[in-house]
Order: sequence, then C-alpha cells, then structure tokens
Amino acid sequence: MSVWQAKVATLFPEMFPGPLGQSLAGKALENGKWSLDVINIRDQATDRHRTVDDNPFGGGAGMVMRPDIVDAALREIRTPNPELPLIYLSPRGKMLNQKRCRELAAGPGVILLCGRYEGIDQRVLDEHQAEEVSIGDYILMGGELPAMVLIESCIRLIDGVVGKTDSIDEESFETGLLEYPHFTRPANWNGREVPEILLSGHHAKVQAWRVAQAEEITRERRPDLWDQYVAGGIPKRV
Ligand code: SAM
Repeated sequence: MSVWQAKVATLFPEMFPGPLGQSLAGKALENGKWSLDVINIRDQATDRHRTVDDNPFGGGAGMVMRPDIVDAALREIRTPNPELPLIYLSPRGKMLNQKRCRELAAGPGVILLCGRYEGIDQRVLDEHQAEEVSIGDYILMGGELPAMVLIESCIRLIDGVVGKTDSIDEESFETGLLEYPHFTRPANWNGREVPEILLSGHHAKVQAWRVAQAEEITRERRPDLWDQYVAGGIPKRV
C-alpha cells in the first residue's frame, strides 16, 4: 500500500511544506511516512498575464477564481488519483473535527483545493462534487493554512508519525471529552503543588481522578460535547 498522500492545489505553492516540514511532521515526510505534492493553479492560466480570477457576475467587491483554470488544475491532480477525496477548504464548509480527521487518515490521502480572493466559481465546485470543510468560524485570506491544519491533524494519526499511540488515544476529542490537566517536575513550582493523587503511584486512582477532571472541564467549557458524551453513556476510558 502506498503512503498517505496529500495533494494541494494552490496559488501559493511556496507556502508548502512550511510548518509541515518541521518537527514530527517534517521527519515523517522525510522518512516517507506520508507524501506531499503541491501544484500551482496559476500554471493553468493561458494568457500573458497568467490570470486566474475575474470580477463576480452580479457585481460586488473582490475577485472570483475562474472555473476553467481551477478545473484544469483539478483534472491534472485527479485524473491519475481517482481514489483520493477532494476537499475545498471553505468557511462555508462542515467544521473539521477529530472524527473526520480519523476517517481521512484511514484512507489513501486527500486532494486539497485552496481558495483565495472571494472564493471559487461555484460551478467548478459542483462539477467536481468537492466536499467543503471549514477549520472554524472566522475568515482567513486563503485556504493554505486550513489545508496545513487538515494535513497535520491527519498525518499525526498515521502509524509511526507520533511516538506513542496511547498519547493520541487519550487526547481531547478522542474520548468525547476534553483532556485532563498535565503536570511535570518540579512537584512544587512557585508555591503551586501538583495534585497529591498524581504522586501516589496508585494507577486506578490516578485514572479515576483524570476522568473526573476531564468530565468537569468538558461540562464547564463545552456543554455541546458534554451533552453528546452524556447521551453516549458515561463512563468511557480516558
Ligand atoms: N468570501 C468568502 C466567504 O465569505 O465565505 C471568504 C473567502 S476567503 C477571504 C478566501 C479563501 O480562504 C476561501 O476560498 C477559503 O479557501 C479560505 N478560507 C478562509 N477562511 C477559511 C476557514 N475558516 N476555513 C477554511 N478555509 C477558509
């Protein structure tokens, strides 16, 4: 089986790998645990000025990325890779979450389309049946950072990218809860003590304390997650 593939269509290919070339993601990329191909949408422009956008029909501020140019870029990536799902990073999309990351990480990879300006002509999104994914309720200037967020959140789920899979299983969202607080040495820092139970060496009690903390933090900070957790039946392993 080939490695997990990320293929990105962007007007700013020089932004990649960017942070994805650093730390664990960068090492995994170097070691061939995942692959990254970036294509420049502008290479599909046919005029002297390499134009990729035009004024919106109906008027209004900003420019829109042209469907013919984006289509040509997508065909170049999709034709040899029909198995890869296509995602358009878009504030109108369904919010990215850990469940979707797990699904994507378990597949062969992903093709990511990064918008700029006001966005992309709707017809080419419809033509390619692009899934729209948002990384949050705020507007960025382009889809490149969202694409990096999506890639990093997927590749860290691939075997061998992050050291201990246990640490992934216990993280926020994996259990339906936000994570419990962490502490390390020194046991007393600035007059602040580590909770005594964590020094007890009593594994079961430590686990119970962590579950209780995770539940309390989730109930306080994310009533939406808490309601889902309660509906799913408590307790789960934290
Ligand atoms: N006019 C668009 C709107 O109001 O929804 C915003 C366009 S934004 C300035 C340009 C590009 O940035 C978008 O096409 C999209 O690819 C990307 N983008 C911006 N915010 C995003 C977000 N929260 N999630 C995913 N992509 C985003």
